[in-house]
Amino acid sequence: MPQDSASSMADDPADRQLFESLKEFHPAGKGCWSGVSDADWNDWRWQLKNRVTRLEQLEKLLPTLTAEERAGAILARSKLAMAVPPYYFNLIDSADENCPIRRQVIPRAEETTTAPWEMSDPCGEDSHSPVPGLVHRYPDRVLFLVTDRCAAYCRYCTRSRMVSNAAGYDFHPEFERQIEYIEQTNSIRDVLLSGGDALLLSDDKLEYLLSRLRAIKHIEFLRIGTRIPIFLPQRITPALCEMLKKFHPLFVSIHANHPRELTTEVRAGLERMADAGIPLGNQSVLLKHVNDSPVIMKALVQKLLMCRVRPYYVYQCDLIAGSAHLRTSVRRGLEIMEQLRGHTTGYAVPQYVIDAPGGGGKVPVNPQYVLSHNHDRVVIRNFEGKIFEYPEKADGTPLCAAPTDIEEPEFA
Ligand SMILES: *Cc1c(COP(=O)(O)O)cnc(C)c1O
Ligand code: SF4
Repeated sequence: MPQDSASSMADDPADRQLFESLKEFHPAGKGCWSGVSDADWNDWRWQLKNRVTRLEQLEKLLPTLTAEERAGAILARSKLAMAVPPYYFNLIDSADENCPIRRQVIPRAEETTTAPWEMSDPCGEDSHSPVPGLVHRYPDRVLFLVTDRCAAYCRYCTRSRMVSNAAGYDFHPEFERQIEYIEQTNSIRDVLLSGGDALLLSDDKLEYLLSRLRAIKHIEFLRIGTRIPIFLPQRITPALCEMLKKFHPLFVSIHANHPRELTTEVRAGLERMADAGIPLGNQSVLLKHVNDSPVIMKALVQKLLMCRVRPYYVYQCDLIAGSAHLRTSVRRGLEIMEQLRGHTTGYAVPQYVIDAPGGGGKVPVNPQYVLSHNHDRVVIRNFEGKIFEYPEKADGTPLCAAPTDIEEPEFA
C-alpha cells in the first residue's frame, strides 16, 4: 500500500521544518567574492571569466575539500571540465561534504569508475544524427546542438562525451548544414535548441539562429533547453528577453534539481522571461543525495510554481559512464512520484521518464494506479490508497445497464 507522504511529512517535525526552510527564497549574494563591484558581479561575462576551474581555487574556497574531490578536480581536465560561476559556487555549503549543490558540479574520483552497462553516449544520440549537431529521434521534432559549452558542468551530464571538450570530442556545429536539413525535412515542426547551453551565445548570434529557424515554413514551435537561468541568472537580461519574445511561440525549459538553486536572483530572471510571455518548464534529474527525497522534490516543484515554472520532466539518471555515485533507483523515483501526485497541485507534478538506454527516447514510468481491469470494471486506487471501481467491459466498451454487483463509489 502506498505511504501517505502528506501525513508522514506533517507527522515528522524535522521533515516539516526542512520543507519550510527549503521553500524560502534567499539571495546567493557575493559570498566569497565580497570585494567585487556590483557592476562586475551582475555581469554574466564577468561571472564566466571568473569561474572556479582549478584545484588551487577549490582548496582556498572549500576548507572541507575531500580526497575524492581533489582527485576529481585533477581528472576533470581530461574527462569533463570543472567550471563553476562564482554566483553558483556561493550556493555550496562549504562546511557540508555532502552538500547537494556541491555534488552536482564538483568532480569526484568516482567519476572514473565505469560499470559495464554504463556508456559514453547512453541515449544513442550519435547514431540518430543525420548531420553533425542534430539529433533526429522523433519524426516531428529535432534536437539542435548549438554549442559544446555550458556555464557550469553537471557531473552526470548525458552529453559529457562532448560538452566542455575535455575529452577531445571537438564539436563544431555547422549551423548552415543543420538549418538546411531542417529546411528539407517537412515532418519537423518543433526545434529544440540545446547543447551545451544555447544561452551562452551572444544575443546577436542567437537572434540570427532563431530568425533563420522562424523563417522555415513548417517550423511551428521553438524551444530552448538551458541551465543558464540556474547557473548564471545574470544572463537573463531585459535585452535577451526582448529579443526572445520576437520568436513566439518559444518555450524555455530550465534545469533545476534542488530547491536551494531557486534563489531570489533566479526568481527575478525567471520573472523577466515569464513577463516576456515565454512559457517556462523545468527538467530535473533524479540524483542520489541531491534530490532523491519526497521532501526535497516537493519543495522544489512548489517553489518552481512560485517562479511561474511548470515542472515538466524528472529524468531517471542516464547510464552515463562514471555516474553510479549519483544514480538512484527507479523504485525510489516511483516512491517520490507517488508522494507528489494528489499530495500537491497537479501543475507541480512532472512526468517521470527514463531515456531508454541505447536510444529509444523518453519512456514514461508511473506508479501503478490501475489495479486490475476485469470483465466489467477497472479497479483503481487514489493517492491515499483508497480503492475505486469504474464500470467498463474488458474490451473497453461502456456497460449499458448498471450492473447489480457494483456498488456506487462514495465521494463523500
Ligand atoms: C528530449 C528530446 C526531445 C524532446 O522531447 P519532448 O518529449 O517533446 O520534450 C526531442 N529530441 C530528442 C533527441 C530528445 O532527447
Ligand atoms: S547544463 Fe546541461 S548540457 Fe551542460 S553539463 Fe549540465 S546537463 Fe550537461
